[in-house]
Amino acid sequence: MRLFPALEEASAKEAVRFGDRALSYAELSAVAGTLATSLRELPEGAKVAVWATSTLETTVAVVSALLAGVPAVPINPKIGERELEHIVADSAPALVLAEADAKLPAGLEGLPRKDIELTSGPVEPLPEPGPEAPAMIVYTSGTTGPPKGVVLPRRAISSTLDTLEDAWQWTADDVLVHGLPLFHVHGLILGMLGPLRRGGSVIHLGRFSTAALATELAGRGTMMFGVPTMYHRIAGELETNEALASALRGARLLVSGSAALPVHDHQRITAATGQQVIERYGMTETLMNTSVRADGERKPGTVGVPLRGVEVRLVDESGQVIETSDGETVGEIQVRGPNLFTEYLNRPDATAEVFADGWFRTGDMATRDADGYLRIVGRKATDLIKSGGYKIGAGEIENALLEHSQVAEAAVTGEPDPDLGERIVAWIVPDGEKPAEQELVDHVARLLTPHKRPRVVRFVESLPRNDMGKVMKRALGA
Ligand code: ATP
Ligand code: MG
Repeated sequence: MRLFPALEEASAKEAVRFGDRALSYAELSAVAGTLATSLRELPEGAKVAVWATSTLETTVAVVSALLAGVPAVPINPKIGERELEHIVADSAPALVLAEADAKLPAGLEGLPRKDIELTSGPVEPLPEPGPEAPAMIVYTSGTTGPPKGVVLPRRAISSTLDTLEDAWQWTADDVLVHGLPLFHVHGLILGMLGPLRRGGSVIHLGRFSTAALATELAGRGTMMFGVPTMYHRIAGELETNEALASALRGARLLVSGSAALPVHDHQRITAATGQQVIERYGMTETLMNTSVRADGERKPGTVGVPLRGVEVRLVDESGQVIETSDGETVGEIQVRGPNLFTEYLNRPDATAEVFADGWFRTGDMATRDADGYLRIVGRKATDLIKSGGYKIGAGEIENALLEHSQVAEAAVTGEPDPDLGERIVAWIVPDGEKPAEQELVDHVARLLTPHKRPRVVRFVESLPRNDMGKVMKRALGA
C-alpha cells in the first residue's frame, strides 16, 4: 500500500521546510529512499526508535521507516527516565535513529545508533507492505495514566489522511504551518505525513511562536494545525497584534484538536479575525473520528460530524445505543472504521477491554444534536462529576469560568463529598488580580444552573499540563 504517491513523482516542489533547510519531493525521495534501503537490512519484524526532535532529520527518519516497512516508534526528546525505560522495554527497538549531534539519554545507550544523514546513495526497490502491516507504534499522551503503545496499521494512516482531504478540502496547493511536536499523532501523522500524502508542503516552525506563525501565514502558508493552548495565546494577543490578526484573516483553514478548544478563545479569535476555527476530534488509537467540515456549518464548542467512512455511536451506561439526537443525552463515544488501530502493544488485556463487538470504546463522553454534531462533555474517567444526583461535565463549567475576565485558565474536577457524593472543584489561574471566590461561584450559577456551581475554588499559579498542553487531571486529584 503506497502512502506517498507524490514522493514517487519526485518533483522539484518543496515538500518540507524547517527554517532555512528544506527538501523538495525529489530530494526527500532520494534521501529517504537511501535510508529506507539501509533499513531493509534489519531482520523481519524489527522496529526502530526515532529520536523525534522537531527537525528535517526526524521527518526523513519516519518517512524512510514507512518506505522500508519497518515500524517506527517516535520518542519525545524531553521524555523522562522512567517513561523511556518503559517504552524501550515495551517496544524493543532494534536501533535508534537520531541526528548526528543529538545527545541521547542513558536509557537509549544500550541500543545500536544510526545517525540520520541527509545524503543520497543507492536506492533499491522498496517493498509495498499490505494495508494491515504495522506502520508505526505511537505512544498515547499519558494524560490519564502511563502511555500505551498503539500499533497503527498502514490503512489507518492512509484512510484518516484521505478522509481529511474530503472534510477539509485539503489539496496539493495547501501549505501547512506547523508548530507541533513530531512524536504524537497530531504533529506527526496529520501535520507531517498529511501534507506529504496530499503532495502539498509543510513549513515547520521548530518552536511555536505567534510571531513565526504570523510571518508564515502572511507568506505562503494556507492552513494551521494547533492545540488549544496555542489558540489561547493567539486569542490573548490578537487585540494588540495586528500583524497576527491580519495573517490569520488570510488563512484558508485554522484547525484545533488534541483537547477541547475553550469557546471563549474561539469567540475572541472570530471577533478579531472573522475566522472560525475548525475543531476535530481524534485519538492515538483511532486517528481522526469527527470534524467540523470546511464546507459545513461551524458550531463553536462542537467537534463536528463523523468523517466519511467512520461510524460513530453514543452508548449509555447500560450499553444501549442512544438513538436520539437531542443535544442533551450524554453517552460514551464508540467508533468503528478503517481508521482504528490494531492493538495495544503487548497488552492483549487492555486491547480486549476497549473493544465491544468491533467498536472501540473511546472513554470520551458526548452529546449529539439534530444535525449530527458531537459536543464532547469530557472523559468518562476524569471529567464526569456525579454531584447531588446529577451527572455534570467538567468542560461546560470550565468554559463558563473562562468567560470571567479575571480567569486566565480553569480546570474542573470532582472530589468526594459526604453529602453530594462528589463536589465540584474549580482550579483557577487568575488573570491579574484574583477574583473573589464567591464571585466565580455566582458567575457559574448565573451562566449555567446553580447545581453546576463550584463548591470549592482553588487558586494556582499554573495547571499541570503535558507536552500537548493537556491538563493532567490526575495530578489534580481527579
Ligand atoms: P492517555 O490515553 O495516555 O491517557 P490521551 O488520551 O490524552 O492520553 P491521545 O490519544 O493523544 O492521548 O489523546 C486523545 C484524547 O484527547 C481523546 O480521547 C480526547 O479525550 C482528547 N481530545 C482530542 N481531541 C479533542 C477535542 N477536539 N475536544 C476534546 N477532547 C479532545
Ligand atoms: Mg487516551
